[in-house]
Amino acid sequence: MISAPGGGSRNSEGGRTLTFLANQPVEVLRKVGARRAEALEQIGVSSILDLLTHYPRRYIDRTRQVDVADLHVGEEALVLAEVRSVFTRRPRRGRPIVELEIDDGTGLLRIVFFNQTWRAKQLPKGTEAVFFGKLDTFRGRRQMTNPVVDQVGNRTGRIVPVYPQSEKAGITSWEIGDWIEEALDRAGRLADPLPEALRDEFGLVDRTSAYWKIHRPGSLDEKAEARKRLAFDELLRLQLEVGLRRRVVESESLGVRHDVSRGPSDLVGKFLASLPFALTAAQKHALDVILDDLSSARPMHRLLQGDVGSGKTLVAVTALLVSVQGGHQGALMAPTEVLAEQHALSVGDLLHGFSVEDTGSLTGERPLRVLVLTSRTTASEHARTLGALSDGTCDIVIGTHALLSEEVSFADLGVVVIDEQHRFGVEQRAALRAKGRTGTGTEPDLLVMTATPIPRTAAMVVFGDLEVIELDELPPGRTPVSTKWARTPEMEEAAWHRVREEVAAGHRAYVVCPLVEGSERVQARSAVDERHRLSNGVLSGLELGLLHGQMRNAEKEEVMDRFRRGTTPVLVATTIVEVGVDVPEATVMVIEDAERFGIAQLHQLRGRVGRSDLPSWCYMLSESETPDAATRLLALERTTDGFDLAETDLELRGEGTILGARQKGRSDLKLASLRRGDRPLISSARKAADAILDADPSLFANQLLGDELRLFVGEDEAKYLLKS
Ligand code: ADP
Ligand code: MG
Repeated sequence: MISAPGGGSRNSEGGRTLTFLANQPVEVLRKVGARRAEALEQIGVSSILDLLTHYPRRYIDRTRQVDVADLHVGEEALVLAEVRSVFTRRPRRGRPIVELEIDDGTGLLRIVFFNQTWRAKQLPKGTEAVFFGKLDTFRGRRQMTNPVVDQVGNRTGRIVPVYPQSEKAGITSWEIGDWIEEALDRAGRLADPLPEALRDEFGLVDRTSAYWKIHRPGSLDEKAEARKRLAFDELLRLQLEVGLRRRVVESESLGVRHDVSRGPSDLVGKFLASLPFALTAAQKHALDVILDDLSSARPMHRLLQGDVGSGKTLVAVTALLVSVQGGHQGALMAPTEVLAEQHALSVGDLLHGFSVEDTGSLTGERPLRVLVLTSRTTASEHARTLGALSDGTCDIVIGTHALLSEEVSFADLGVVVIDEQHRFGVEQRAALRAKGRTGTGTEPDLLVMTATPIPRTAAMVVFGDLEVIELDELPPGRTPVSTKWARTPEMEEAAWHRVREEVAAGHRAYVVCPLVEGSERVQARSAVDERHRLSNGVLSGLELGLLHGQMRNAEKEEVMDRFRRGTTPVLVATTIVEVGVDVPEATVMVIEDAERFGIAQLHQLRGRVGRSDLPSWCYMLSESETPDAATRLLALERTTDGFDLAETDLELRGEGTILGARQKGRSDLKLASLRRGDRPLISSARKAADAILDADPSLFANQLLGDELRLFVGEDEAKYLLKS
């Protein structure tokens, strides 16, 4: 193995490659035998590369270590000491207690663990460990209660790395440290895929020192340098992947040069002139950009990010009309039946009375035809819609995943709009685009919309294959929804009072049912109960409608219709109302057990009110005081800005949730973060990726980078991307 390099283990510049290290099992290390290898396997480490990328969880800075004799009550401190005695007490009432006495040569200190009986086994007499915690006193004696403990073994040095270890696998942090040291020693110099010029430009250390210093930093600054380089590499791979994807799509496809004229006799011009309001500056700008995209022969791949209520639908409809006015078709795909039907309704309204050219008819025109296609469309309607799509007599189709089904074919699909993108994967986007190609050989233009804004940095990574444009402005006259976290019975009372007041004023109210565990059925059941409870309680005397996922389409439509008209001015609903439902007269929302919802969901729900110039309210009922719930609810109270909330969400929940939306999250982001902190690094990686790909579009000259993509991205995918 490492000690006896075979062919190809070093690249031309010299140094081991990551691919080589990934092919070396951990057993090649002298200190790892079959048993330890098995244990490592349990924590997901099987190759030398896995081991080297098993990064420290944190570092103990021994320069900040304090002598037991110098500890002050009330202060946090780090002490390195030896366990002198261990004693477990199991009081008849109360929690079991493990008590230690530790000694660092300057004094003795008592350590107390509640409910952690395993500590007795972890820290037998004679163990040396680092204890981090706050000094307190109990009955006059100084002690540390439930400190963080790290075993350091015989590690020396000022900065000691602490590795994620596993009790179950029986591997300790210092064993891992030892193995890593052996691996680094024997691997020697690592090949660096980044040319020196780029390293200099972005202030990055070379790869060999990066791996050494992340594991054996001489100072915290060195650790930071190492992290920067390794995080950059992760982000660069990601950016290369999305950059390649974008280039492949662009090179493979020929788009339609759409007719984007907006004169008074053009469909688009007529439509814009028909609107009862003026476009916001943000809408105007977005339309300019999108129409520009549409007129080019390069197929558009654009993401429109806009907060709830920012008026995305109108931008989407305009894009679809561009397609129609050039004699092509348009398709709009939404993630749920409700949303698809909602869109169909509003698009139908917006386009009512418009006609398109039809040389075959007496008048030379026929009415513009918008159809719906979901899995619930009746069989006869379904057949009719399929026919109209393939013979071109349907101009715009609005639907769900049903649009992706094999039997759907278009005469000439020119523009595809996908709403609520985060619920669809890249594959589904591609599938719908492909439907355009089969008819005409040209690739339809794609507009993807999301009302769940994600921070710019995250968008760059997650949607790297799409260009982003934002609608960062709401139509004029909107007053921000005044949002209250109702945490006491009095505050809840005020919420119900507001519902009655608004209903009396002729407006509408939503009550969002508590989120319950279980199937759609269970969910529906509890919504039924909730409506019953409310109509016999706080909302007695009011007409309450009910909306949940188990209802049939016709039923849902009827319920929404009655709500819209005000016959049932209160709608008790599950989260089914989360997306897209648009009833401008709705001015109050009460969300029950609000702590069960995430930030994005609360924000989406709240977006159902405040959709006109009427003042409106959102009450989040919750007695929960957990810090996490409080952070979320306070964030909602503080701002109605979706981008701001998205940042908070990312900080609270981490990127896993966002990357999860990305194709199966096979990312190798171990160090890099999409949070505010790594923003400059993400831009650098993007710049570097562009520079590299501009000069070397298929990574032919940057073989090491190509190999690493194969390694991290997966062979098949990389083959597709690298065309090899
Ligand atoms: P989104 O899909 O971005 O959440 P919508 O497109 O549903 O938002 O628009 C929300 C509401 O705002 C709709 O009732 C729409 O008619 C209205 N609207 C859109 N653009 C404007 C505008 N420029 N001025 C006034 N109202 C607008
Ligand atoms: Mg919308």
